[in-house]
Parts: sequence; C-alpha cells; structure tokens
Amino acid sequence: MNNMYFTEEHELFRQSFKEFLQKEVVPHIDKWEETGTVERFIWKKFGDMGIFGLVYPEAYGGMGLDTFYTVILLEELQKINSGGFAANIWAHTYLAMTHVNAEGSHEIKEKYLTPSITGDKIGCLCITEPFGGSDVAGMRTTAVKEGDSYVINGSKTFITNGVYSDYLVVAAKTNPELGNKGISIFIMDRDTPGISSTKLDKLGWRASDTAEIAFDNVKIPASNLMGEEGKGFPYIMQHFALERLIMGVNAHARAEYALEYAKQYMSERKAFGQTIDKFQALRHKFAELYTDMTMCKTFNYTVADRLNKGEYVVKEATMSKLKSTAMADEVIYHCLQFLGGYGYMEEYPMARMLRDSRLGPIGGGTSEILREIIAKMIIDEKTYKPAK
Ligand SMILES: Cc1cc2nc3c(=O)[nH]c(=O)nc-3n(C[C@H](O)[C@H](O)[C@H](O)COP(=O)(O)OP(=O)(O)OC[C@H]3O[C@@H](n4cnc5c(N)ncnc54)[C@H](O)[C@@H]3O)c2cc1C
Repeated sequence: MNNMYFTEEHELFRQSFKEFLQKEVVPHIDKWEETGTVERFIWKKFGDMGIFGLVYPEAYGGMGLDTFYTVILLEELQKINSGGFAANIWAHTYLAMTHVNAEGSHEIKEKYLTPSITGDKIGCLCITEPFGGSDVAGMRTTAVKEGDSYVINGSKTFITNGVYSDYLVVAAKTNPELGNKGISIFIMDRDTPGISSTKLDKLGWRASDTAEIAFDNVKIPASNLMGEEGKGFPYIMQHFALERLIMGVNAHARAEYALEYAKQYMSERKAFGQTIDKFQALRHKFAELYTDMTMCKTFNYTVADRLNKGEYVVKEATMSKLKSTAMADEVIYHCLQFLGGYGYMEEYPMARMLRDSRLGPIGGGTSEILREIIAKMIIDEKTYKPAK
C-alpha cells in the first residue's frame, strides 16, 4: 500500500526525520512532559531542518512539497510517544501557519510566515472560548474598528502554544449581530499590551503548553486583519478539514505504534510456560485491533491523496477523525491490557499514550459535532464549499 503514495524521496525524508527525532528530541521528552515546557532550542532545530516549511511556498522559505511529507511528519511525531510535543509542532505548523499562509497579506507573510518556517517565531490559533468551543459562531470576543486600528476584547481557552508562542491568530466578531457572518481573523504579537495568558493543567498532552488567554482592550493595526472582514467563519471551516485529517492521521499512527510495541512485548513476556502471544484470546484481539488500525490508515491515505490533488475533502476528513480517534482509544486501551500491570506503569509507553489519546475525540471538533456534520452532509445533502 505504501508504494502507492510514498516515493523513494518520501522514504528518505522519513528516515532522516526519524533519526533527527531520536537524536534531538527523544532525549528531552521526559523532561518536557514533566515541566510542560518545550525548550526553545528545538524549535530552531526543526526550522533548520526545514520541517515547518514542508508545504509552504518557496517564496517565503518553504519547500512546497506534497501532502505525504506532512503525513510522514505527523506519523513519526506520534511514534516518539509524546502527544503533547507533537501537538506543539503541528498546531504551529498546520493551525496557526495555515491561516497566515492562506489569508495573510504579503507583508504579514514576510513578518510571520517566514520566521515561522525558520523556527524563529511560534504561533497559536485562538478560536475556542470559555463559554463554548463547539458553537464557533457563538463566540463572544469582539474586534471593534477605531480609525486605523481594531480593539480586541474577550477571552479564549484551551489554546495550544497559548503561553509560549510569539504571535496569535485570533478569531473575533467584527459584527456580532451577523452571527457566523460577523467573524474575522486577526494576527497579533504576543507582547501587544492587554494580552495575558494562564497555563492550564491537564490529563494528557503534558509536554504541550495549553492556555487560557484574555484580551483586554488590545489595540492592533487594521492591517493585521487577515483576509476579508466577516469571512472568518468560512476560513475556519475550510481549514478544519486539514486539522481533522491531521488528527485522523495522528490517531492511526499512535495506534500503529501501540500495536507494534505490544506485539514485541507479547513475544517476550511469558505466562504459564509460554509467551503470551500464543494465547488465542490475545492473538484474536490483537488481530482485530490491527485490522481496525489498517482500515483507518488506508482510508486516511486516500483522503490525504485527494487533499493533495486539490479536492475539498471536508466530509472524508471529518469521517477520518471520527473513526480514527475512536479506533486509537480502543487500540491503546487494549494494548495497555496486553502489558498487564506494566501497562499501568509510567516507565512503559501505554500509560502516557492512553492519556494523550483521549484528546482525539474532543479537540478540533468533538465526535458529537463530527457526527452532526456528517449527518447534515449525507441525510440533508448539505454541501460545503471552500472560502473564496
Ligand atoms: C488540550 C487541548 C488543546 C486544544 N487546542 C486548541 C487550540 O489550539 N485552539 C483552539 O481554538 N481550540 C483548542 N482546543 C479546544 C477544542 O477544540 C474544544 O475543546 C472542542 O472544540 C470542544 O469545545 P468545548 O470544550 O467548549 O466543549 P463544548 O462545546 O462545551 O461541548 C461539551 C459537550 O457537549 C457536546 N455538544 C456540544 N454541542 C453539541 C451538539 N450540537 N450536539 C451534540 N453534542 C454537543 C460536545 O460534544 C461535548 O461532549 C483544545 C482543547 C484541548 C482540550
């Protein structure tokens, strides 16, 4: 199957990225999981490797490569078992930077996209609010135009890279009475007066920096509006397709990692005089889980391929996230069981994986919301078009 999508160049990239992760990242992971802070030097190393620029235009320092380089990046990040570290990297590269690239002016791209690619600036994407995340159109943060400026007031929560990033991509209402047609997207520097953030404590993704952010009369130049005023909602929805596919790919990759680890463990651990991979109860469960993982992975690759060809795969990306994240939770639950008591110990990978995986069906659109979108598209035959 891999040869259908991955060329020799892709595989060379996978190999060198794997080695880079083992050498530069893995030795620090436990410390970052402990402190909840990923040190700055690693961002620069990712920048030097060109990782942040895989899909972005060469004009801004990127490499303009196809979607399967991104798939490799995501898969290998999951296989070093820190959902939090992976989240920091992909939230910067594919949440914040996607908006900067798609909606930012040339000046904004020079100021933010280029240093994002080199690893000199880190970004975050601020959509969710304390009053509700699923109902994006119900957001309360406002941006009021005053001469050549906008003044932002409100708050956001659960923002990945929300404390340590250098800039923020923020959704706010420029026209609250218009509902989802009144949302616009802005970019602002972290040190703009009136922005404050509080780090949140959480079940998993512990190496990731997750924050609540307050905006108190934050004055930014009107030129920091990205794209057109009032178009924020379609921009957000359009990019959700990529985010959901990313979360689907992450899910199949961490499930695959868990299964490979469990397979090795089961071939070494003995009970009742034989290795536990000889017990039919475990073999059949393993076979079923491996099948589920492979089906999700195969589906996700076809969606990535269609995205790569320029198709608007909103329905399929939604299906990818819905099924793959549920599958990963189930696979990891059972892989932990295969390890018995060791599965529950922190020095083995399953405990952290179980915690990290649980975010899959919540972040970037809960499973309930995803089912609603799929139902609308299939039962009501609703169609979604990309923002112009
Ligand atoms: C670690 C972490 C990192 C995150 N990173 C980011 C980030 O970088 N940027 C960002 O903007 N957001 C981020 N999020 C926010 C995430 O996208 C939201 O948590 C998610 O969209 C759900 O919103 P909510 O938490 O407000 O839940 P709510 O919207 O309050 O939902 C609560 C429950 O009600 C259900 N529900 C709501 N509406 C319906 C409905 N119509 N039908 C059926 N059930 C419904 C939901 O499925 C859920 O089970 C992150 C969240 C976490 C936990």
